[in-house]
Amino acid sequence: MDEHTASVERMSRLWAPWRIEYIRHAREMECVLCTAPARDDDESALVLHRGRWNFVMMNAFPYSPGHLMVAPYQHTADLNSITTEEGVEHQDMVKLGVALLTHIGKPDGFNIGLNLGRVAGAGFDQHLHTHIVPRWLGDTNFMPVLSNTRVMSESLPSMYRRLRDALEHLSDASAGT
Ligand SMILES: [Zn+2]
Repeated sequence: MDEHTASVERMSRLWAPWRIEYIRHAREMECVLCTAPARDDDESALVLHRGRWNFVMMNAFPYSPGHLMVAPYQHTADLNSITTEEGVEHQDMVKLGVALLTHIGKPDGFNIGLNLGRVAGAGFDQHLHTHIVPRWLGDTNFMPVLSNTRVMSESLPSMYRRLRDALEHLSDASAGT
């Protein structure tokens, strides 16, 4: 073993405990609302639209078909750390999400909301996000909507493409006026 290889071996032994801790930490810290917009491929990340401070993505475990989430890029669970500008854009994206879902499916209504804390039903409580859940008359008798995963009638990729088409359609329409 030459000196270089030996020193690499020593280094990797030295660094192994740190790396294991790091990997464990990174895994615990993994946050879909941070990792999804960080990816290059919006379609596989289910990211529909990106703004300056917020983005819209599909929920991979939807409560109803078309369940969207609006989130700030900022990893925070604290509502007070959202600036006015971020909040205004966040609200605009909620409106956009409603417009997209109305365009593709004409739901009878929506549940829109923010669950703060696990006790309030937030499946993921470390990164603020607003749910947009389209509802249809008779889709459910009660409100398992924010606590249950339902069987989907349409695949996520196909729903994603319909939403992206709707996004293009709506931006063409607003550009054309
Ligand atoms: Zn996050």
